[in-house]
Amino acid sequence: MRKRDLEKFKKILIAQRDQIADNAKRALSGDVHLDPDDFSDEMDSASSEINLSFTGRLRERERHLFGKIEQALAKIESNEYGSCENCGEEIGLKRLEARPVAELCIDCKSEQERLERRLG
Ligand SMILES: [Zn+2]
Repeated sequence: MRKRDLEKFKKILIAQRDQIADNAKRALSGDVHLDPDDFSDEMDSASSEINLSFTGRLRERERHLFGKIEQALAKIESNEYGSCENCGEEIGLKRLEARPVAELCIDCKSEQERLERRLG
């Protein structure tokens, strides 16, 4: 991956991490307005955008995402970012733009989801 792209994803990931940390801080300080609509399961969807209006506590899902962001940032530092953890192929800029914390290429992800559906 080109350095310019790495820098771009680094910025996106740091912004997402800050957003989660900010939400957590606000939740801890009690300065929150809980809106059930903010607790959607869309966080993990293709858009992967952290809902900016989300003002809940740091739930399991955010903690999970937070960990993934940390991992992705570490990979950027070690120059491993953007490679599929399963097959080693490039994940692809389009997919990473939609989901910067993606660890698998679309083929491996589809396969994984297919297996999960079968097991689930
Ligand atoms: Zn793959």
